[in-house]
This record gives sequence, C-alpha cells and structure tokens, in this order.
Amino acid sequence: MSRRVVNFSAGPAVLPLPVLEQVRDEVLDWHGSGMSVMEMSHRGREFESILAQAEADLRALMGIPANYRVLFLQGGATLQFAMVPANLMPATGRADYVHTGEWAKKAIAEAGRYGAVRVAASSAGSDFRCVPPRTTWNLDPDAAYVHITTNETIGGVEYHWVPDTGPVPLVADMSSHILSRPMDVSAYGLIYAGAQKNIGPAGLTLVIVRDDLIGRAPSSTPTLLDYKAMADGGSMLNTPPTFAVYVAGLVFRWLLEQGGLSAIERHNRAKAALLYGVIDASGGFYTNPVEPSDRSLMNIPFRLRDDALDGPFLKSAAAEGLVQLKGHRSVGGMRASVYNAMPMAGVEALAGFMQVFARRHG
Ligand SMILES: *Cc1c(COP(=O)(O)O)cnc(C)c1O
Repeated sequence: MSRRVVNFSAGPAVLPLPVLEQVRDEVLDWHGSGMSVMEMSHRGREFESILAQAEADLRALMGIPANYRVLFLQGGATLQFAMVPANLMPATGRADYVHTGEWAKKAIAEAGRYGAVRVAASSAGSDFRCVPPRTTWNLDPDAAYVHITTNETIGGVEYHWVPDTGPVPLVADMSSHILSRPMDVSAYGLIYAGAQKNIGPAGLTLVIVRDDLIGRAPSSTPTLLDYKAMADGGSMLNTPPTFAVYVAGLVFRWLLEQGGLSAIERHNRAKAALLYGVIDASGGFYTNPVEPSDRSLMNIPFRLRDDALDGPFLKSAAAEGLVQLKGHRSVGGMRASVYNAMPMAGVEALAGFMQVFARRHG
C-alpha cells in the first residue's frame, strides 16, 4: 500500500481512513448494483437511498429539529455569501454582520451587493485576535438577520458560545468546524458549510435552514439560488454532486460509529490541547496570537520566533511526513488544521517534531 502522509491541510482536507477504504472497496460495484456511485442516475433508487441515509444520519448527529430543512447544494460557502442575502435580506433590506477576520470580510463584501450591510461588531481593532464580546455588539432590531463566522479558518478564532440575537435570526458560516462538537441548531436560523473541511470532498455545500426563512427570495432570484425551490425539489432540481454526497454520508456514518459529536469533541479537545500546550511551553519559540478563550479547536496558526526558520521547519516536517503546514498566504507563518479525521497519532507526531525542532534551533 502507498504511504499516507499526516495531512494538516486547511481544505480540502484529510478524510477518515476507514471512509477512504470503503470508497475504494465500493468504487467498482456499489452494494451489488454493478456500478460506482459516480455512474448512477441521481433519480435512481440507489442514489435516492444514499441521499436519504446521509440526511437521516446528519439529522441524528446534529439533533436537527423537524422544522429545519437540510439542503445539499453546490457553489461552496462562497456562493452562500450571496445566497443568504439574496434570500433573506429582502425582508427588511438590511442585515448585521460580525467581522472576525478574512472569511467574515468576504461574506460582508458579497452581502453589500444586496442591501444595507452593517458591521455590528468587529475585532479589527485587536487585529482579529478574538471574538468581539457580545456586550460590544450594536445590533439593529430591524436587521433581516445577523451573520457570524463561527470559526475563522485563517485566523484560528472560534466562537465557544452562541450569541443571543433575540428575534433576529442568527446565520452562521460553520464551514471549518461543523460537526467538530455538538451545536444547538435551534439557536440558529440558518447554518451553512462547504464540505471540504470537516464533511467530505469539495463540491458539496450543506445548508440547514429553519422553515420560516424559506420562501423569502424575490421572484427574480435564479431558481438554483432560491432556498424554497431547492427545498421543494429535495436538493434534486438538477444533478446534485452525487459522489460528494455519498462520501459525506460515509463520514456521517463514521462519526456515529465514533460515538457522535460529544465523543469527537473530546478527541478534538485533546488534540488541540496538545498543540497549544507545545506552543505555550516553547518559551516564545512558537507563538499563537489568539486570545486563549477564543482559540480554534480546528485551525491552529502559529509563528516561529524567526521567520527565516519557516523554510527549514517546513522542509524537516515534510521529511517526516508532516505536510501542508504552511500558513495562509495572507498571514504567513504556519497553520495546523486538525479536523475530525486527523488522528491523535498525527498530532502527537507534529507535537514531538515541534519540540525537537525548537530544541535544535532555539
Ligand atoms: C473555506 C471557507 C470558505 C470558502 O469555502 P468555499 O467552499 O471554497 O467557497 C468560507 N468560509 C469559511 C469559514 C471557510 O473556511
């Protein structure tokens, strides 16, 4: 068998090995159908069962209430930056956004094309090192919704609390930490996530939306961008990303077998604690800029004391099979993404490597 690296990519990212093995085993003949899922009609009985099972397993994992619809869409989280305001903004013509970093910034910019967007709170003043405390938020009671980015994938800043926005629906981009721990879906009006971080292959986007927020898009909205049309059509108005839905379904199954989201949270907390522990105990050789209370469990950015060591760090790490550790081009430094599918052994290998590297170069 070929050698598997320890993959810290921010996305597309590592998938659970048992899922990949099952995909391999089923690729020529899915459950006696004589074909792969890639070759099946999306209208056939086989694929319909795959989609229905994926939705049922996701509902069980997240405890999604009956008055929420699950949509399997395309276009990535980036298309949701437009679809959310296209559908929800017309209610009052304005929306509030909380600015916490690179992804929030992109969501804010796109929403501005649809109406009056207000930044109700921002951590720009502290260089995006934290989630702005709820007491600093200046919310508009007439906003159609409040948009938050619950895990900033580049900055490594995560909400570990759910903001109360009263009767104004809360909309969350959960792309890089959905399924990493239990989330109270009922606290949100709409949740969306691109699949390629913590769900499955690229090409699939999940939207979980409360019934009353469906059917608000103006009639000029393109059909594929209208939540009502997609909900009524069971995410099958046109061909869905069938293979990505299938693999996502296997990931949901794998998560259930791990014991569900409380179990995966314990696993994720242990992994993150190990890496932050190494960073904080390095005497400044490694630094993470984020307020400890707002540190992400999924994306851990860090810098080395001397940028000149970045190249040697990445090279020595790669020699040990530890790859995709280079930080986002907009911030530099390093970033270790440790999604659900990253095993503890991979994190232990990185932690050990970092300690040795610091001793050698500190
Ligand atoms: C990756 C990411 C996006 C963009 O996702 P695409 O699927 O590439 O459009 C948006 N928001 C967050 C928080 C992300 O991590």
